[in-house]
Amino acid sequence: MNLKQALEKILSEYLIEKESNSFSGNTLAEFLRSELPKIISNLLGVSDRYLVKGSAGKGVWTNVPWAAVLDKTVTDTPQKGFYLAYLFCEDGSGLYISLNQGVTDLKQQYGSSVRNALKVKSSDYAAQVPHNSPGVLTGPINLKTSQRMGLGELYENGAIYSRHYQTGALPANSELEAHLSEFIDLYLRIVINQSSQQSSTIAEDDEDGLSVEDGTRLREHKRIERNQKLAKKAKELQGYICKSCGFDFEKKYGALGKGFIEAHHLTPVSTLKGKKIGLDPKKDFTVLCSNCHRMIHKTEFVDRVEEFKAAYVVV
Ligand SMILES: [Zn+2]
Ligand SMILES: [Zn+2]
Repeated sequence: MNLKQALEKILSEYLIEKESNSFSGNTLAEFLRSELPKIISNLLGVSDRYLVKGSAGKGVWTNVPWAAVLDKTVTDTPQKGFYLAYLFCEDGSGLYISLNQGVTDLKQQYGSSVRNALKVKSSDYAAQVPHNSPGVLTGPINLKTSQRMGLGELYENGAIYSRHYQTGALPANSELEAHLSEFIDLYLRIVINQSSQQSSTIAEDDEDGLSVEDGTRLREHKRIERNQKLAKKAKELQGYICKSCGFDFEKKYGALGKGFIEAHHLTPVSTLKGKKIGLDPKKDFTVLCSNCHRMIHKTEFVDRVEEFKAAYVVV
């Protein structure tokens, strides 16, 4: 069975099975769990990098069945990170291939503002890796979901790039396979982009002693500070002298240090969780020397330079 036949099988049989047959021992559910992932794996070739999973639900039928390709350097579960998925519309009208996000994890992290968080993250991913190709959709998709805040609705908002296929009008198998490799390429580009950003500015000891959750927030914070446009603007507006200790790179290093300073984002790490993040280069950022920047992150005054200075900085 090729990819097209497998997808068509699910499109034509899923609703009938879901509505009239029990989940336990169901052969279509088993097909989603093992056959479809096998077909996809074979198309990806021999690779240690990818894990392919599929599901029709856990114990009960899900409204939006899926099969996902996970890059193991990013995630080993579709509950977190970002990955590539085939998502079937709840009403059987079609399916998407979609570069999507681990919605379960984000739901725990962001609560009721998860939809917005997903959309913001999605456009952020898309901005990192621009992709224009006929038929490729950017942003939210429509899985015809009925359940508010259900997994399906979250997948709708978590979509980064997608292609839609309508039931009864799927393209040729060769085209479906070409789309799969297109999306694998996109996925990889985003992965590489992410990790190069992360490893270049996060030193291991910066994360020492932090919980996984705080480490993640620190990385988010760093990612915002690395937004070149914002950081550059903040530095232009606020100058190149450390707001905490007065260090002047140019004075110390001459021409080499001219125009060198680090932008620091003032949103307290604890409120990065779901709340609207201020991104005004004038009031939501400050400028610090590299030492003060690393030290302030070790204190509770991450968003209050004056208090950090009073408590810790010997001038
Ligand atoms: Zn300083
Ligand atoms: Zn910072």
